[in-house]
Amino acid sequence: MTGAAAEAATVRREFARIHGRSPDGVWAAPGRVNLIGEHTDYNDGFALPMALPQTTVLAARRRADGLLRLHSAQGDGAITELAVADLVPGAVAGWARYPAGVVWALRDRGLPVGGADVHLDSTVPTGAGLSSSAALECALAVAYDELYGLRLSRPELARVAQYAENAFAGVPCGVMDQMASVCCAEGAALHLDSRTLEVRQVPFDLTGHGLRLLVLDTGVAHDLADGAYAALRGGCERAAALLGLAALRDLAEAELPGALAGLPDGLAPLVRHVVTENARVGRAVAALAAGEPEALGPLLTAGHASLRDDYRVSCPETDLAVAAAVAAGALGARMTGGGFGGSVIALVPAAAAGSVARAVTDAFAAAGFAAPAVLEAVPSPGARRLG
Ligand code: ADP
Ligand code: MG
Repeated sequence: MTGAAAEAATVRREFARIHGRSPDGVWAAPGRVNLIGEHTDYNDGFALPMALPQTTVLAARRRADGLLRLHSAQGDGAITELAVADLVPGAVAGWARYPAGVVWALRDRGLPVGGADVHLDSTVPTGAGLSSSAALECALAVAYDELYGLRLSRPELARVAQYAENAFAGVPCGVMDQMASVCCAEGAALHLDSRTLEVRQVPFDLTGHGLRLLVLDTGVAHDLADGAYAALRGGCERAAALLGLAALRDLAEAELPGALAGLPDGLAPLVRHVVTENARVGRAVAALAAGEPEALGPLLTAGHASLRDDYRVSCPETDLAVAAAVAAGALGARMTGGGFGGSVIALVPAAAAGSVARAVTDAFAAAGFAAPAVLEAVPSPGARRLG
């Protein structure tokens, strides 16, 4: 049995034990790393995420009585029971607000969905900037799409999941995490236009080029629900309005010096990050299309400097992981995800993977930080039915 088939069998068996009958199906949705294009999605900009092999696997069965009964292997053992008709923002606390939010968001769009029994299990670390929240939302969304015969497109499913996280779970995230979870393909990075939700699969062959992509989870949990993320988002929107633009995506790199001169000191660095970051996405896509993935390295490191110095969303742990990885021979490294902690990705020559991971671990020990968890990012499939 492959890894996915074994995980599906386990989740199916656990579902039967917990809910007392067999599920209608089993679905999976992955976590992601974003190669480049951070804090660009809510500025209508570009990103280049790829799906991780780590997934959330979810078994579900329709119920006719309008009850949503949710169980997670990562929960406290209890089943959260909710009446679908009573779901309103603010009514559900804790992890259940993510899947319940998706059901609410589908109903809010006027779609005829009812209850279900649900059990899920995930290998995506939570709060590590690898998007376990989107994996959870998207696993539920693809399951409901089939259980209730909705036939929504992938971008529509991503929008529903984002709406659930924004309006029901109270996290003002952009759409990149959800688009990555539903649209990514094996062996490719996803070139995403967050304005149109157009996507292009860009082949990303690490092994063929003697490369590996390490994920260094600093263990510092971010909390995107706090005010910092919303404040950054608001700052970008204010800057776009001052510049007379619909969104910062509409400012070209060549227009940047003139635009910065007219902005208040607090907003100029935000604009510089977003505009240069969008340009870095374009350069990264060109490098991959030219068959030169190693050219991503300097773009990653420049992206990190921009997040650290202009956007100010890094932290001592992510800065140290990037510096130590690059000093030990990584071609480039950056924090991935919203920031304030989370994970760092490092593009490394395959032969240097062990020594780079050790160098970061040693640097953390020397600084008195807890040891980072080391994963490997392999471009993996997006959300799908497993059985
Ligand atoms: P990230 O998406 O980077 O992992 P978030 O703070 O956005 O971090 O989402 C993490 C939250 O998502 C967890 O605190 C939990 O509420 C919820 N979550 C994610 N995966 C699971 C899971 N398998 N079981 C229960 N809750 C989960
Ligand atoms: Mg999240």
